[in-house]
Amino acid sequence: MKKKNKGKKSKNRKSETKTNTNPWESVDISNISESIENSDRLEQVRISQDETFLLLFTSGSIRLSLHWVNDPEFRGFVHCNGEDCLFCRIGNKNMNKLLLPVYSFDSNAVAVLPISDSMRPHALLPQIANILESGKNLRKRLVLISKDRDHAFTVRTKKLPKDKRDEPIEKIRRFKEGHDAGEIDLTAVFQTMSDYELKQLESVRQKLELLDDE
Ligand SMILES: [Zn+2]
Repeated sequence: MKKKNKGKKSKNRKSETKTNTNPWESVDISNISESIENSDRLEQVRISQDETFLLLFTSGSIRLSLHWVNDPEFRGFVHCNGEDCLFCRIGNKNMNKLLLPVYSFDSNAVAVLPISDSMRPHALLPQIANILESGKNLRKRLVLISKDRDHAFTVRTKKLPKDKRDEPIEKIRRFKEGHDAGEIDLTAVFQTMSDYELKQLESVRQKLELLDDE
């Protein structure tokens, strides 16, 4: 679908033999909290070179520490397991992401937009913050986000047509009810892997052996 032009793949030929689908889809999201009812499964918003159509409705994000895993068996972000995290031990740099609930017109549902905490020019966070700080009429503003190959984000807004406002409002209301009731876990859009599961990954096992670290 979206991520066809991922440069730098040549190092990793093996993964191409495995699947011809979007590599991001190898992230298993089947363990997302079952308590999310009304079919409001939270998905992760993935920004690509195509514009993604969103509506912002809250600045209430949570911060999460993640690792990027690039292994033939698994490709995607996983939770940093904190102290004694196996990925930290093998030198895989953890990174902070802010998880912001947004309304996605791709899935017509509330979804989670992961935002890097970078404040460099063309990063996503300062541009999103700008819109959120302006504050008013958020629910009438369509937010269009894309990024180029150098990870420079472009964010623009347009007025959302009147007849398109009702469905988001209703779904956002239901999301907020679930969230306030503690039934929705934003962090569940990313997979958690135990040490045991991580050691099943060839790339991890190899590094552990080299570090002589079991
Ligand atoms: Zn870690």
